[in-house]
Amino acid sequence: MAYEAFRQIYSGKAPPWFEKPSGLATRPVCARSGAVPQPFCLVQANDFFIPGISPATPCAVHRQIRSNPDTGLAGGVVEAWSPDVEAFLRGQGMAAAAGNSVPGGRLRIASPTRDARFVLHEAMPRLRQQVRLAGTTDAATNDPLYWFVDRELFAVTRAGQPVFWPLKQGRHSIACSDSRGNTDQVEIHVATLIPARE
Ligand SMILES: [Zn+2]
Repeated sequence: MAYEAFRQIYSGKAPPWFEKPSGLATRPVCARSGAVPQPFCLVQANDFFIPGISPATPCAVHRQIRSNPDTGLAGGVVEAWSPDVEAFLRGQGMAAAAGNSVPGGRLRIASPTRDARFVLHEAMPRLRQQVRLAGTTDAATNDPLYWFVDRELFAVTRAGQPVFWPLKQGRHSIACSDSRGNTDQVEIHVATLIPARE
């Protein structure tokens, strides 16, 4: 009976809640991050957006990396959740999408230390003024570690394999994450040593 009444009311046209509100359009998005898909976002979905208002940020989760003989990591498309993307998704109740944190598999940045201060010497070659990025994880895993400097993916390594970042003046955030959603983040300060004048 209820179905019959329903059918008569909406016979011949779609129920009103199926109509698209004006001002909205649809666009393909990355099914994992919900952001504008990159060519290597292999799973895409359609989502509503407001032209000119909805952010057009490209997907920052899927990245193409080159194979690296030093770390033995193969090249290809990786899913790298930077800690701020992950925090955002957790805030949206999408923790599952951001990977499953493994209890006891905590990731920690061993180098540099939190709030470490460095001094750049102008007279010294830049190549010798680098900071070692190294992470430790207590999970028995060979998973890649993703290093972000100022939110940009800088390197992909494995635990116990340090990588070196050339120091630049200023405050920098250094973050590390693995593919299971474990993250750590430190901030460092780099000052430039100005030689005393005569
Ligand atoms: Zn993507």
